[in-house]
Amino acid sequence: MANRELVILGTASQAPTRSRNHNGYFLRWDDEGLLFDPGEGTQRQMLFAGVTASQVTRICITHFHGDHCLGLPGVLQRMSLDQVAHVVEVCYPAESREVFGRLRHASLFRDRLQLRERPVSQDGPITGGALFRLEARALSHSVPTFGYQLTEPDGRRMLPEKLNVFGVTGPDIGRLQREGLLVADGRTVTVEQVSEPRPGQRFAFIMDTRLCDAVFILADRADMLVCESTFANAEAALARDYGHLTAGQAGQVAAQSGARLLVLTHFSQRYESGDDERLVGEAASAFGGKVVLARDLDRIPVPSRRPAGGP
Ligand SMILES: [Zn+2]
Repeated sequence: MANRELVILGTASQAPTRSRNHNGYFLRWDDEGLLFDPGEGTQRQMLFAGVTASQVTRICITHFHGDHCLGLPGVLQRMSLDQVAHVVEVCYPAESREVFGRLRHASLFRDRLQLRERPVSQDGPITGGALFRLEARALSHSVPTFGYQLTEPDGRRMLPEKLNVFGVTGPDIGRLQREGLLVADGRTVTVEQVSEPRPGQRFAFIMDTRLCDAVFILADRADMLVCESTFANAEAALARDYGHLTAGQAGQVAAQSGARLLVLTHFSQRYESGDDERLVGEAASAFGGKVVLARDLDRIPVPSRRPAGGP
């Protein structure tokens, strides 16, 4: 099991199909587990994917159309049933707070949840910890919608051969990392002398939106960009009218933002598996990086870090 991977719980917009569950995504990020947009049936999809309720540490909802949130009551109640002991943060558009409240209490259950609500009312940082900071930006859809971006702080990678040269070993390595310098064998060693910059990883999650500035800001230099591509290029007018993106536009966003891996998802029910190649091709014609079309229960590793000082 990779330390950082995206588990695809569902890939359908609006209505599920025989091969696609409603939307749902679980991002495993070391000890954290972020559940994005749990559509209807997410609890059961988690079971198929081997994701347990106790692995979820945060939930991020882009907006409250059913394909992005109808699974929330089931997931929350399952967490309560499983007596998840930790606090779970839930981010959602503040303007739809009432809808969240209805889903939270959609049916009767013995409520043992420790939820910390983080209603999002403006662009910018929402929450974070040692592993990452989470930011949101308003998108352009028919109802209040936010996209999310998770960024790991830049760090430094210790170089064993350099540590050897300077005679830094054992607990001194940790001390040097924490304090920035130490004295070994009578000489001062700085962390810069025995390490190289380690760029933090970035994940972006963009659902239900027309093209707008926020899309490009969220996707900026993402190592993994999960982007809705509800329609094929031929349905560009429909996409515009309903506040969605085409596969070609998703490719354009990835290209202009310097993203590395583009994951296409949130497909209209008009497309079946026979259309997969066409959708990937349309995105790939705009984007030279890697394009993956998400299928239910796929596990997609977050790409390894950019090389230090690389593109
Ligand atoms: Zn949707």
